[in-house]
Amino acid sequence: MVVQKMKWEENVRRVAPYVPGEQPKSKNVIKLNTNECPYPPAPGIQRLAEQLDCDSLRLYPDTEAGKLADALCGYYGVSREQLFIGVGSDDVLAMAFQAFFNSDKPVLFPDVTYSFYDVWAELFRIPYERKALDADLRIRKEDYMEENGGIVIPNPNAPTGLFEPVETMEEIIAANPGSVVIVDEAYVDFGGESCLKLVEKHDNLLVVQTFSKSRAMAGMRIGFAMGNPKLIAYLKDVKFSFNSYTMNMPSIECGAEAVRDTEYFKDTVNKIIHTRERIKRELVQMGFRFPDSKANFIFAAHEKAAAKTLFEELKKRGIFVRFWDKPRISNYLRITIGTDKQMDILLQNLKEILAERKFL
Ligand SMILES: *Cc1c(COP(=O)(O)O)cnc(C)c1O
Repeated sequence: MVVQKMKWEENVRRVAPYVPGEQPKSKNVIKLNTNECPYPPAPGIQRLAEQLDCDSLRLYPDTEAGKLADALCGYYGVSREQLFIGVGSDDVLAMAFQAFFNSDKPVLFPDVTYSFYDVWAELFRIPYERKALDADLRIRKEDYMEENGGIVIPNPNAPTGLFEPVETMEEIIAANPGSVVIVDEAYVDFGGESCLKLVEKHDNLLVVQTFSKSRAMAGMRIGFAMGNPKLIAYLKDVKFSFNSYTMNMPSIECGAEAVRDTEYFKDTVNKIIHTRERIKRELVQMGFRFPDSKANFIFAAHEKAAAKTLFEELKKRGIFVRFWDKPRISNYLRITIGTDKQMDILLQNLKEILAERKFL
């Protein structure tokens, strides 16, 4: 079939969109492919959802998401001027790219990292350069001390799970007073340490976090950034030039409740860390190798079995993990940490698949 080119197509902004992990329709699967939390959000959120005052939906929501902002300021010890809230950290990051990456010099990020960064760079026509991770899949700090138009690094990195000490991040931030350094801390609650303590000292640092992983609220879409008041003001200018009412009222209410329940948050995160450490030991026994993850996933390669085969065999058995047929990482599976029960089923199935092929 000949696809006819429309006359107006020349003026279309063509982009290759980000490809999210699969969201299978059936509930009858074990979903370890998109780093969601296997436990429900804080119990207070169920109550709030049931008591939702639907009449208040007539009104536009608070453009500043004040209730949520105050809860976050209290928890993280920052002022309202140091905090920006968005609809998931993807929203925050996309706006930060627009606000801060406007140089002719390339924005720098690792070659193996969150695959949205190059998509935004392409969309906004920002020049960029991917810096190769070393043989152990770690970032090389020297790579980020060259001339650049901005830097974005997840810490822990995804999909490797590796955490770089805050001291290393500070060296990178300090070496780049002329550009904004975004530290994407989507996974920092699972055993890393936040760069938040550096925002008073470094006015070029933007720390970005999300409710999607450690706070079990991917479906609510809440993300936020913390940094110098001037950085935040520029970010808000971009947001309010685009759409003022992005965060809906139920998200503001439920988000604030999630932040209030500190104990539940800590318990949930600790359960996941505990499961992750147990699974690491079990995977090693089965012939897997992986970087030492500080996130809620493990990026594992088997010494004999191809990742693609394992991925496909697990899928046939209703177990979803993530696999990328891309250079350097095509022999790895990214396995989200689920409940202990889900992980036991995963291990059992992996054992069977490996044994069938005499790899065990
Ligand atoms: C999951 C993730 C995000 C995006 O999370 P949101 O759901 O948009 O808040 C951002 N960065 C990294 C590295 C992630 O893994």
